[in-house]
Amino acid sequence: MPTARPHALRLARLRRDLARQKLDALLVTSEPDVRYLTGFTGNDSALLVTARHAFFLTDGRYTEQADQETRDLEILCRKRGMMELAGRTARRAGVKRLGFESRVLTVAQHEELGRQAPGVKLAPTTDMIENQRILKDPEEVDSIRRAVRVAEQAFLDIRPLIRPGRTEAELAHALNSAMIQLGADSPAFDTIVAFAERSSLPHARPTTRRLRSGDAVLFDWGARVGGYCSDLTRMVFVNIISPFYARVYGAVLEAQRRALRRAEAGIPAAEVDAAARDYLKSQRFGRRFSHGLGHGIGLQIHEAPALNARSTAKLKAGMVFTVEPGVYAPGRGGVRIEDDVLVRRSGIQLLTSAPKLLRDMVLRTGV
Ligand code: ZN
Ligand code: ZN
Repeated sequence: MPTARPHALRLARLRRDLARQKLDALLVTSEPDVRYLTGFTGNDSALLVTARHAFFLTDGRYTEQADQETRDLEILCRKRGMMELAGRTARRAGVKRLGFESRVLTVAQHEELGRQAPGVKLAPTTDMIENQRILKDPEEVDSIRRAVRVAEQAFLDIRPLIRPGRTEAELAHALNSAMIQLGADSPAFDTIVAFAERSSLPHARPTTRRLRSGDAVLFDWGARVGGYCSDLTRMVFVNIISPFYARVYGAVLEAQRRALRRAEAGIPAAEVDAAARDYLKSQRFGRRFSHGLGHGIGLQIHEAPALNARSTAKLKAGMVFTVEPGVYAPGRGGVRIEDDVLVRRSGIQLLTSAPKLLRDMVLRTGV
């Protein structure tokens, strides 16, 4: 059973923001935002929050589930379209200015809402709830910790399967199954397993390519547990490490160490990115680090804050994000090392603990 308390606190914070932005109500249509505010784990539902009421808008498939999973909401079942029910409910509640999530509502939904709520002014909002979600409360941190534990244990469990002859797709499938067996809702995203030169593709899709002795293997995977995501990347070297990989791995690990040392509350996210990037530049890998240093994780696999050169965010206690420098040499291979971090009032805590020293990453298969 979900505890009602965090959801009530989140709704109270949202209501304060509504008053500040002079909105009578907010229509929440993003699935993770609805879940964050209510605890509801289904989809195709919306929430209309006014100063006094929280209307949960859903359809006949979900009324029972909503009743079980949520507290203190007025559950309304739609007979026609969602925007018809949202517009009608807003009018009945006397809403004059209705905020909507401008990154989420489609143009068609916006037009329909306008038709269904004549006289109600529609006001675009951005990130009202994501700005709350950026700071995790203790319940959320617990869920992320569990998601990390499941992912790390699954990786240990499949280690005996990493042998010459296996395909990328087989290993990805094994990792996904292991996570489910350990209690994950699902993998947090499409698991990446990339052998040898394919590791230079940051978003490689697993193929039927077979593992050979001497290959490097990149695993990027995570579990979703209680709705919350973990996200890790580790490299494994089958029997030997080439001088190329040894050099790149050492540089990426040191870049990550520098970023982790720089990260703490009050520091701009761009500076943490720069700590890794400047080091990789000094090793002449600057142009090979082709993505941002990291991203927030929570109900979504990519959420705020973004850690990159353009980021304007400052780190705050309660943020949880990845630190994942990478170096990619097309045609030769790539290295990425990814860990998950919680910012504390003082310092940071690494949530992930899977080994990553180069000497621990060599897998001896004897073939
Ligand atoms: Zn990842
Ligand atoms: Zn990531």
